[in-house]
Amino acid sequence: MANIVAIVGRPNVGKSTIFNRLTESRKAIVDAESGVTRDRHYGKSEWNGLEFSVIDTGGYVKGSDDIFEGEIRKQVKLAIEEANVILFVLDVSEGITEDDKVVADILRRGKKKVFVVSNKVDNFVRQGMSGEFYSLGLGEPYNISAISGSGTGELLDEVVKVLDADFKEVELNIPKFAIVGRPNVGKSSFINALLGKERNIVTDIAGTTRDSINTRYTAFGHDFLLIDTAGIRKKSKVEEDLEFYSVMRSIRAIEDCDVILLLIDATLGLEAQDINIFRLAETNRKGIVIVVNKWDLVEKTTNSTKEYEEKIREKLAPFRDVPIIFTSAITKQRVLKAVEIAEEVCANRVQTIKTRHLNDVMLPIVENQPPAAIKGKHVKIKFINQLPTHAPTFAFYCNLPQYVTEAYIRFLENRMREQFNLAGVPIQIFMRKK
Ligand code: GDP
Ligand code: GDP
Repeated sequence: MANIVAIVGRPNVGKSTIFNRLTESRKAIVDAESGVTRDRHYGKSEWNGLEFSVIDTGGYVKGSDDIFEGEIRKQVKLAIEEANVILFVLDVSEGITEDDKVVADILRRGKKKVFVVSNKVDNFVRQGMSGEFYSLGLGEPYNISAISGSGTGELLDEVVKVLDADFKEVELNIPKFAIVGRPNVGKSSFINALLGKERNIVTDIAGTTRDSINTRYTAFGHDFLLIDTAGIRKKSKVEEDLEFYSVMRSIRAIEDCDVILLLIDATLGLEAQDINIFRLAETNRKGIVIVVNKWDLVEKTTNSTKEYEEKIREKLAPFRDVPIIFTSAITKQRVLKAVEIAEEVCANRVQTIKTRHLNDVMLPIVENQPPAAIKGKHVKIKFINQLPTHAPTFAFYCNLPQYVTEAYIRFLENRMREQFNLAGVPIQIFMRKK
């Protein structure tokens, strides 16, 4: 199950500074690997060997410089629902404000583990000033200075202890598919079409949040878990809330799953927010299937699926090698097919390619088109293997890994996709010194 740390607090207490500090060390790696632009409010972190996600919930709330009390409430409530651990940030130089009290009230009523973070403790004098935060009734404050980094280690030691305990939940060892997408694309209808008649053969498993229900599907030789995020719509009535909610819900579902079925509305096409969700899955290295739903509403010509597919792939670049399927949840057309494709992607994602086979296929390609020489230096790739990671990662061993360009790595990725079954699966390629 996902490990999520949410940062909450009123504006200007230092949430995004803390967010950057926690996610910084990994940011360079992630960017270099995937060429993906980083979300400013969502990122991965690691401490004492434990990986977790960090969300700056403040960043998703509109107009956060001049925030309304209602916005803060929303932010905090959602953090309570979605996160395992909450960092409640306060500014020691200002003490407790009315907005801080509002946040504290909601957090006290929630059942999540909260760490009171007394930020901007930049000097010795300020160390004694956080005492008043005890009165919030949320436990001992942790003194930190997000700017210098002091105190963050002690805080994280305690945070990962809580996460680690949460993480040991029992898990079902079957493929997990998350049905994600913006409100109204047809997620509920899709799930109903799939489960409709077979209601008697599905088991409801309590979800980790109130609205998301995980359903195990065992019929016609299939056995998988569906993670349903359809609850998004029911909670949000105002337009600008939608992105915030669907992003938060999607994050959790994406982290919990093996493959996402990203539903889009055929009449609208692939829009910016769909791409955000796609990139989230890519960053998390989850399998992806694009499901173009409401296909019954689109007027068909001979080439319409081909053209439609091509338009989508252009927007997904550079990760274009993703299955795209056209469904109608209303007429039930290809709904089961969509999950069968998700099963294939799942298999692609856990496969181990034999070292011998990998080298037999890839070494001739590399010899035929080696990396371009830089300053007279020739890179020689001698050996390739797959690393024992949870999503496909390949190491290319060579004499001068630092001379291999991003473009060449992209070339290798494309060749690998042609040669092996990697559709829908984000992969990583590392150059290593032999
Ligand atoms: P947010 O609105 O809660 O995300 O706050 P920001 O992270 O944008 O920080 C607000 C301001 O406080 C910025 O000017 C930061 O540079 C400053 N700030 C953040 N952390 C510290 C700190 O530890 N010490 C000091 N002195 N300033 C800080
Ligand atoms: P959700 O918010 O993603 O769960 O979307 P819903 O399943 O509630 O569907 C939103 C609306 O789209 C409803 O009115 C559905 O009847 C309609 N809808 C869903 N799937 C399809 C489809 O494949 N074809 C058509 N024509 N309408 C659909």
